[in-house]
Amino acid sequence: MPRKDILDALSSYIEPFRVTDGKDFRLKDFDPGDTRGLKMDKDEAVQLLERGSEWLAMEQDILYAQDSWSVLLVFQAMDAAGKDSTIKHVMSRVNPQGCDVASFKEPSTEELSHDFLWRYLAKAPKRGHIGIFNRSYYEEVLVVRVHRQLLEAQKIPPPLVTDDIWDERLADIAQFEDYLTRQGTIILKFYLNLSLEEQKKRFMKRLDNPDKHWKFSASDVRERQYWDEYMQAYEATIRATASKAAPWYVVPADHKWFTRLVVAAAIVEAVENLDLAYPKVTPEQKKDLAAARKELKAEP
Ligand code: ATP
Ligand code: MG
Repeated sequence: MPRKDILDALSSYIEPFRVTDGKDFRLKDFDPGDTRGLKMDKDEAVQLLERGSEWLAMEQDILYAQDSWSVLLVFQAMDAAGKDSTIKHVMSRVNPQGCDVASFKEPSTEELSHDFLWRYLAKAPKRGHIGIFNRSYYEEVLVVRVHRQLLEAQKIPPPLVTDDIWDERLADIAQFEDYLTRQGTIILKFYLNLSLEEQKKRFMKRLDNPDKHWKFSASDVRERQYWDEYMQAYEATIRATASKAAPWYVVPADHKWFTRLVVAAAIVEAVENLDLAYPKVTPEQKKDLAAARKELKAEP
């Protein structure tokens, strides 16, 4: 399939899920079970994912050689939505040297002694690299918003903790992303949109499979009672932080194969849009190359 045809085929799995302006965003308009009519047994999905991953590996090689742009992929989701496996699959072909994954869990005592963006900036990708945030600064307006006691642990001066704190944080995050973007970081944010019912099925499956028990925590199940609060927090977040420069992708997550396809397609498209090329060799470098060739040939 020619390049352009692949891109066109991919775009029909990207556009419906991309949010670049959050003004009218409603989570209920997005169906976690959507597959755009594709079926997994259809070769098309598998082939597209394969090609997408290969393509991404090629683009990453140029990104790395250019040493200028970087890419930040943010993954947010409720438990068992498939963050880990999506990251594993989509990045399966890329060179680990140019790709860094940072997983963010509950902050340490040291992290809590700093401003809330401190630990995330420290892990932002280097030039030429793809950085993956498995959870991110968005937790600061999601889990911390749903569980207010986490905010108390952040030791913020009391006069600064007002009813506006979440809107202020969302504005700070949007500015932080503008800052990174203006530094040459391409930001893509993925919300893996899982339904409450599918989460239950996946938890049950984990309980039935001893190899998955390490992934299970009783508190994950307890967290289900806050589902509506989380959904409200996600909606407010996407509304406030979706932008052209740093779009959100609200990816259907009830079918893992479709999640992977959408995520891979969105990344390929974004990197492709950069129109990257290997760095041009200067006339001086060309001379050096010719000299090196001569030297090698002359070796006994
Ligand atoms: P998995 O469950 O798939 O292994 P995970 O990302 O859920 O991956 P866990 O170790 O289960 O990893 O959970 C990390 C926990 O840390 C989550 O419950 C998350 O909400 C919490 N967390 C992440 N960032 C923050 C934060 N800034 N403040 C408080 N809690 C946070
Ligand atoms: Mg977890």
